Amino acid sequence: MSKFIKFKCDLDTFIDDLNELLENNNKTIESLLKEENKTYSSFVKKMQLIDEELELFFTPLAHLNSVNNSDKTQKVYSDSLPLITEYSTKISQNIDIYNAYKEIQQNEKESLNQEQKRVLELNILGFELSGAHLDDKTKKRLAEINLKKSELQNDFSQNLLNATNEYEKIITDEKDVDGIPKSDLENAKFIEDGITKYRFTLQMPSYIAYMTYGPNRGIREEIYKAYVSRAPENEKIIEELLELRHEMSNLLGFKNYSEYSLASKMADSPQSVLNFLDKLLQNSKKQAKDELREVQELCDHSLESFDSAYYTEILKKKKYDIDEDEIRVYFEQKSVVNGLFEFLNKLFHIEFKKVEEKLWDEKASSYDLFVDGKLRARLYLDLEARKSKRGGAWMHNYQTHSKNENQEIQLASAFVVCNFPASSGNSASLLRHDDVVTLFHEMGHAIHHLLSNVDESEVSGVNGVEWDAVEFPSQFLENFAYEPKVLKMFAKHYKTGEIISDEMIQKLVNSKNFMSASSMLRQLEFSIFDFKLHTKIYKGNEIQNLLDSIREETALIKTPSYNKFQNGFAHIFAGGYAAGYYSYKWAEVLSADAFFKVVSEGIFDSKTAIDYRDVVLNGGGAKSMSEYFKEFMQRDIDTDSLLRLNGIKY
Ligand SMILES: [Zn+2]
Repeated sequence: MSKFIKFKCDLDTFIDDLNELLENNNKTIESLLKEENKTYSSFVKKMQLIDEELELFFTPLAHLNSVNNSDKTQKVYSDSLPLITEYSTKISQNIDIYNAYKEIQQNEKESLNQEQKRVLELNILGFELSGAHLDDKTKKRLAEINLKKSELQNDFSQNLLNATNEYEKIITDEKDVDGIPKSDLENAKFIEDGITKYRFTLQMPSYIAYMTYGPNRGIREEIYKAYVSRAPENEKIIEELLELRHEMSNLLGFKNYSEYSLASKMADSPQSVLNFLDKLLQNSKKQAKDELREVQELCDHSLESFDSAYYTEILKKKKYDIDEDEIRVYFEQKSVVNGLFEFLNKLFHIEFKKVEEKLWDEKASSYDLFVDGKLRARLYLDLEARKSKRGGAWMHNYQTHSKNENQEIQLASAFVVCNFPASSGNSASLLRHDDVVTLFHEMGHAIHHLLSNVDESEVSGVNGVEWDAVEFPSQFLENFAYEPKVLKMFAKHYKTGEIISDEMIQKLVNSKNFMSASSMLRQLEFSIFDFKLHTKIYKGNEIQNLLDSIREETALIKTPSYNKFQNGFAHIFAGGYAAGYYSYKWAEVLSADAFFKVVSEGIFDSKTAIDYRDVVLNGGGAKSMSEYFKEFMQRDIDTDSLLRLNGIKY
């Protein structure tokens, strides 16, 4: 059995080595294509190995550029991107590869196993969704559409960025910033002609600070209005984009863009997505109304859109004033990590053992993962913030569990990276509860990749998993970070050893669920609008009318007519979420549903947890998640679990 490859990346020779690798790959592909009687093992397997080799070569650079960023890593990284893009574009448009896959799929349909079938299906689908198999005239039109689309998407975000940067509100009266937290105020503060002034902008932290804490209602409205009426010129772009997306879908053989989007996702039809969203909507409304009533009671005028964040914050303070420092002392980094390992051990019977090896930073560490005493994978943790690391938290898969042509197994490995406060000498790294949730989330992704049993790398671990199901394993695991039984295993005061109290845990849960029905409605408004908008061609006023009609159901406070939210909806008009915004909720439902089943079985010694391990985690992307879900839950998805998880009563 082969062990793990040593993490290495030689920046000095990287570009030369990359060029050589790509050149060799191109030659190999060429000669593979020339062979007669291509078979799965002579062609598809080799294509996968080539792909995997490139992945293993490139991942360390991408990783270093994120965690040990320097001018040098940036330079090598940005020099390598066009090379990789050119190479993969060429492959994705190579019709000979597509034909070879089709031929093998046909010839070997009796003998291929599920994993191999899935590899072929996904590859063929990939070609077909880009139109590589169509006639030249159609392909030419598709290329034009793609180019135009990316220009429009780029313009959309540029307009939004310009509008965001153009605006500022200068406040000189101290009274108008009374109650805004110190750190936000420090960021806003500047001195001009000896006078202290405050600048608020439409950039996220600044905008949110005034909307949440700004005491002057007139200023709140002014800033709100500026925010929701940004980039009016995007209206035209939206119209054009929708038309192009529709045309593209038609050329590729789909009725509309929603259907095109779902072709590579777990959800099976537009109707099932809409039914799913509607069910959540109907069941959240009652509680959202109650929540709003409670907020309304705090203010003596009728609540407007630009009031809700402000009064919601007042209510939150009144109901659940959580003092972060009071909680942090229970979450010392090392005990959280050990606690998480112990929890995973009790839940899935897997074991982590520390490896002594030198890595890219002295704070990074690695662990071997064992199942039933057998070495299965390696996990790299790099959890503390430092200057050279980009912000946020993520999981990055490195090696992938697979078998090569000689039937030798390659084990999986993955990085989990966070930005927790750094520990030093005698000061401990104390986490916020949010950090603990983040760590559970990323570990959910990591074990999804690490516990794969699949032999074909393209559908092993997180590879080949449908886009709307990718967040299921991560959200599933993060739910346990609120469970008393789990928290009490490791949430101990770092000095006294006192275990976190039930009251404190309840506070964390309550604060998570605060106003949850209202935020559910908001998310549903975005999701339904996005999805319906892509079911047919909407033009001119029809777009606003569609949004208004959805808001009749979702917006409990009347939205002012100057609100043109759609012109700033970058997720779907400049990002990759078109007809896919629903995915957030979709994966949450799967995770909530599975979570409650495990909880109802007492968490530890839960049969469902083991079935989840054996079906979802071992299975990777070798089947659709909808099949896996039925297999380990032994029933269909129950949408109401998500309402329960958010504390929504209906
Ligand atoms: Zn995630």
